[in-house]
Amino acid sequence: MAARRTAPTRRKAASGSRGARRLSCESPIEERAPEIVRILSEAYPDAKVALRFSNPLELLVATILSAQCTDEKVNEVTVNLFRKYRRPEDYLRVPEEELKADIRPTGFFNQKATSIREACRRIVEVYGGKVPDSMEDLLTLRGVARKTANIVLGNAFGKVEGIAVDTHVKRLANRLGFSSELDPDRIEQDLMRLVPRERWFPFTYVLIEHGRAVCTARNPRCEVCPVSHLCPSSSV
Ligand code: SF4
Repeated sequence: MAARRTAPTRRKAASGSRGARRLSCESPIEERAPEIVRILSEAYPDAKVALRFSNPLELLVATILSAQCTDEKVNEVTVNLFRKYRRPEDYLRVPEEELKADIRPTGFFNQKATSIREACRRIVEVYGGKVPDSMEDLLTLRGVARKTANIVLGNAFGKVEGIAVDTHVKRLANRLGFSSELDPDRIEQDLMRLVPRERWFPFTYVLIEHGRAVCTARNPRCEVCPVSHLCPSSSV
């Protein structure tokens, strides 16, 4: 379970940009979106990826391990994992059972071990041992969908081609009315339409922070939420 973050200061209800007409949770999403992006970005100015890594391979492995697991647990496991496995070949050299044991605390270790090994096999055989740096190539790796590819591209290569939709981003996009879709790729398309391109990368982590600190899955704290006046799901 992730540690509870401090909630940002809640703003006065029903405000808008200077000179803009008053917005409410019933305003069209095209009008609410810029204000929600602005308020949440100000509330979480330091939001960034929580996974620890020092190169693209480490981030790729950490992101695969983060499925259905907290970033804190992944970071605990990767302290030793990344000392033992430094190159893609290292993940192929050991018996699969050994890798499974090494990543077991992150859950779903059978599936994750297979994904990591098959991704590393392709990195070695097709990409000369280097994690590829394009969306197209990353998506050919086992266990890599757009979420993981966006995380690796943005954080390890400084390339932004979309918005990583994890469980928090998905939940908040639905609650805030950015998207009514359930499929992460479709949610990403809706977000990319509504969020300015230069905000795509940081806004991923802003939403994740807000999802952890305030808009939690079970008990969203709408009473302290700085965008409750713009949120159709608000309970206050
Ligand atoms: S008002 Fe409530 S449901 Fe809406 S974003 Fe804030 S915490 Fe989440």
